[in-house]
Amino acid sequence: MVIVLKENPDKTQLEHLTNWLEGLDVKIHMSEGSKHTILGLVGDTTVVDIDLIKALDIVEDVKRIQEPYKSANRKFHPHDTIIEVAGVKIGGGNFALIAGPCSVESEDQICGIAQRVKESGANILRGGAFKPRTSPYAFQGMREEGLELLAIAKKKTGLPVVSEVMDLSQLPLFENVDIIQVGARNMQNFELLKELGRINKPILLKRGLSNTLQEFLMSAEYILAGGNNNVILCERGIRTFETATRNTLDLSSVPLLKSMTHLPIIVDPSHATGIAKLVKPMALAATVAGADGLIIEVHNDPPHAACDGQQSLTPDAFDDLAKCIENVRPFAYKGE
Ligand code: PEP
Ligand code: MN
Repeated sequence: MVIVLKENPDKTQLEHLTNWLEGLDVKIHMSEGSKHTILGLVGDTTVVDIDLIKALDIVEDVKRIQEPYKSANRKFHPHDTIIEVAGVKIGGGNFALIAGPCSVESEDQICGIAQRVKESGANILRGGAFKPRTSPYAFQGMREEGLELLAIAKKKTGLPVVSEVMDLSQLPLFENVDIIQVGARNMQNFELLKELGRINKPILLKRGLSNTLQEFLMSAEYILAGGNNNVILCERGIRTFETATRNTLDLSSVPLLKSMTHLPIIVDPSHATGIAKLVKPMALAATVAGADGLIIEVHNDPPHAACDGQQSLTPDAFDDLAKCIENVRPFAYKGE
C-alpha cells in the first residue's frame, strides 16, 4: 500500500499515523520529495482500513498494491485448487456438471430427474429445499423434507448433492448434503460465511446480484479465513439495466477470476438468463471461457415446475447439452 501525503503535513498527525500503522505490524518506508512525502507500507496490509486513511487531513491519496484477499489470491497459491466431493473432483481440469430441479417437489420428481441427468453425464445433483423467493406468497421449498428426499435420490443414484442453506439455523439439517450452496442473496451474509468457514464441507458460493469480483472474493475469503478451503465460486449473472434476460451473464468474470484466484469457478446459465432456450448457448460459451463446471436447472415437466420452470431444461434437452459440452471442452480457455 502506498500513501501520498499532502504538502507540509502536520507533524503530530503524521506521527499518529505512523504509530498507528506500526501498531498494526506494517513497516513504513518514508520517502520525502520536494513537494510530497510518500509512505510505502510493507507487510500484511489486509488489516489496514484504506477508507480511514483516505479520510485523514494529511492524506492526499492511497493506493492498494496488494489485493485485500489473501487466502483466495492466486499470487500466494499459484496452483488450481481441486475440490473433491464423494469421488468427484472440481477444478484443475476436472469439470463439474451439476444438474437438477430448482426445487425438490416429490420423491418421484427428484429421483426421476436424478436418474436422467446421471445417464446424461451429470456428476452432481442439485435440488433446492429452502428457496429464497422474491414473493412471500410463492412456493418456499419443501424445507427439511426436501433435504430428506434429496438424500434418497443420492442413495439411489450415487450422485453427491448440492442444496442451498438460507440461514445459520438450518445448518444442522445439512448433514447429508455434500456441497452447501450460498445463494446470490446471501453472498454477503457474513455471519453465515463465518460459520461455513468452521465446517469441513465444500461451499458453492454464488456471486451476489450486484457485487464486484473483489467483493465476491472477499466473501470467499471469509470462508477460507475460517479454515475451510473448499470454496467453489459460481457466476450466476448480475443485475444490469437490461430486462430482456433475468440477469446479465458476466462471462468475462470466468477468465478474470481464474487469474485472480486459485478457486474453481463454475457458471449457472439458468439463473443468469432466466430463459430455457438461452441455457445451451451460454453453457457452451461458459465452458469455452474456461469454467470448471456448470450448474443447470432440469425439470421433468417445466411448465408445471413449482419454481423456475421458464429456465429449466427437459431431461432430453439436458442430454443434448451434455453431449455438446463434451464436444467443446477441448477448446476451453486454460488461462495464461
Ligand atoms: C438457486 O440456485 O436455486 C438460486 C436461487 O440461485 P441464485 O442464488 O443464484 O439466485
Ligand atoms: Mn432456480
